Amino acid sequence: MNSHDVVIVGSGLAGLRAAMELVGHLDVAVVTKVYPSRSHSGAAQGGVAASLGNVDDDSVEAHIYDTVKGADYLGDQDSIEILCGDAPRTIYEMEHLGCAFSRTEENKINQRAFGGHSAQRACFSADRTGHALLHTLFEQSYKQRGKLQIYSEWHMNRLIVEDGVCRGVVVMDIRTSKLEVLQAKAVLFASGGYGQAFKITSNAAANTGDGIVAAYRAGVPLQDMEFVQFHPTGLYQHGILLTEGARGEGGYLINEDGDRFMSKYAPSKMELGPRDIVSRSEQTEINEGRGAGPNKDYVLLDLRHLGRAKIMERLPQVFHLAQDFIGVDCIEKPVPIQPTAHYSMGGIPADNDCQVYLDDKGAHVTGFFAAGECSCISVHGANRLGTNSLLEALVFGRRAGKKMLDVVPGLQLAPVDEERELAAARREIDELYAGDGTEDISVIREELKQTMTLQAGVYRDASRMEPAQTKLDQLRKRFAKVCVKDQGKSFNFNLLEALELSNMLEYSELIVDGGLARQESRGAHFRTDYPTRDDENWMKHTMAFRTEDGGHELRYKPVKVTRFEPEERKY
Ligand SMILES: Cc1cc2nc3c(=O)[nH]c(=O)nc-3n(C[C@H](O)[C@H](O)[C@H](O)COP(=O)(O)OP(=O)(O)OC[C@H]3O[C@@H](n4cnc5c(N)ncnc54)[C@H](O)[C@@H]3O)c2cc1C
Repeated sequence: MNSHDVVIVGSGLAGLRAAMELVGHLDVAVVTKVYPSRSHSGAAQGGVAASLGNVDDDSVEAHIYDTVKGADYLGDQDSIEILCGDAPRTIYEMEHLGCAFSRTEENKINQRAFGGHSAQRACFSADRTGHALLHTLFEQSYKQRGKLQIYSEWHMNRLIVEDGVCRGVVVMDIRTSKLEVLQAKAVLFASGGYGQAFKITSNAAANTGDGIVAAYRAGVPLQDMEFVQFHPTGLYQHGILLTEGARGEGGYLINEDGDRFMSKYAPSKMELGPRDIVSRSEQTEINEGRGAGPNKDYVLLDLRHLGRAKIMERLPQVFHLAQDFIGVDCIEKPVPIQPTAHYSMGGIPADNDCQVYLDDKGAHVTGFFAAGECSCISVHGANRLGTNSLLEALVFGRRAGKKMLDVVPGLQLAPVDEERELAAARREIDELYAGDGTEDISVIREELKQTMTLQAGVYRDASRMEPAQTKLDQLRKRFAKVCVKDQGKSFNFNLLEALELSNMLEYSELIVDGGLARQESRGAHFRTDYPTRDDENWMKHTMAFRTEDGGHELRYKPVKVTRFEPEERKY
């Protein structure tokens, strides 16, 4: 059994930023199922928020207010104050580490407009911001070769928590399928989001919620899982993201008749309303028959008036994605788009130092931390503003690192029953080989994704979600009959897909059940049968606890309000 002071699961911005804080001081290892620079952070396009005031008058106070309002008042305001307050320092730090941000004429960091933000505060590197940030941190970690051990293409299968103390993880080397226990004084999950449960999604194939489900199965509750963000501009039928930066640079949204329909829904912000509102507006246009195309099932992103020079300078990736995936030249023609599952607001509950909660009363799991998209701290509440999540990963990744540096030297390696842990991980795999094979992994996955997109998507109600509950229950039963066909040991993706699907089936139930229980509309969770926000009964966080029989119990905990009392959200 190998051991480290700290094991970090995930090599996106949150994981690598935390590692930077620790390397050279503690024995730290990073486990990642994809090669580090392929983490989903690298796919982020539009920008990272900070009130630098380089282009527009701005203040930290305004950034805090926009975030609280954008979150539809479900965000914890003490955490939001930290996020926005630390943003300028974070940007300059990344710049000084070598991140090449796009510049203004005066050679300052350029900033573009973004949805729900009242000033131009999105710092960007063309439309490849995540790529630039991730490679900067990957470079820094590479510089620490020898001091930082990266288990690249290793899969984390289980989290080991006993008596409220985190003791390590069970991992699998994807090259050989060999299982191993990594014992640790502290474990940080920075394992990303869970958008893969949806058919139309902008998320990388790896975003299957493995971290959150491993935590949940180890006895940790999950918070606000019903809140899934749908981004307004997914490429039609593919879901691949076209950044909000396209609208930040002046792009329009139009329906079949060429009308800029946002004038009806968010007259002051137009295309730059927050994502939940813009996505619902598009869906309404489609549902009411004003969609474009032969089936009237998409709307259009119109960039033509921006001209070739601006598109190629600021939005080169948008140009190539539209060209390569659906053959549309966005300089000449508007691009077919539809809402796409994009960001997971819910996740592993943690405090402002990323220490994970064990219950709804404030007790912690000793030695267990979570940061980035897998965590729910909760800075995004019911709806995240664009560009706040790269920021969250950097700000809270660093805070997790600092806290671990502080507490880990005082912790011991807690004993681990290696045999038992390996046997449990082995049993889970054996069961996947033991099914009678009358069910197929890809068929179940497809039915799951269809169900989630159609019945727990942009618009929800009981008449769609109750059948979804039954469907998910059936899918879980059918999943017991799948059989992994590939007996190979090397790069067995058939096995990995089965493990991932098992996770997706488990957390999807929490999205649907949490959403059914929440009889109101708030942020990204919109119920046509309860179309208004209900602060009296529902201004609270959902906490889902796993029960012995594999089911769950929902409890609730209050939202932290510091300076902004809830008010009606208008744009
Ligand atoms: C297309 C797209 C564009 C976006 N654009 C923006 C933007 O412009 N601005 C913004 O603020 N946000 C944006 N976001 C959101 C933002 O990119 C993410 O929320 C953020 O990068 C998440 O970072 P992370 O470090 O938490 O996780 P990720 O970068 O997702 O990394 C997760 C890591 O966990 C590892 N992992 C997961 N499961 C396992 C396992 N079982 N075993 C081992 N390793 C595992 C993966 O290998 C990976 O290294 C965008 C998201 C998408 C999908």
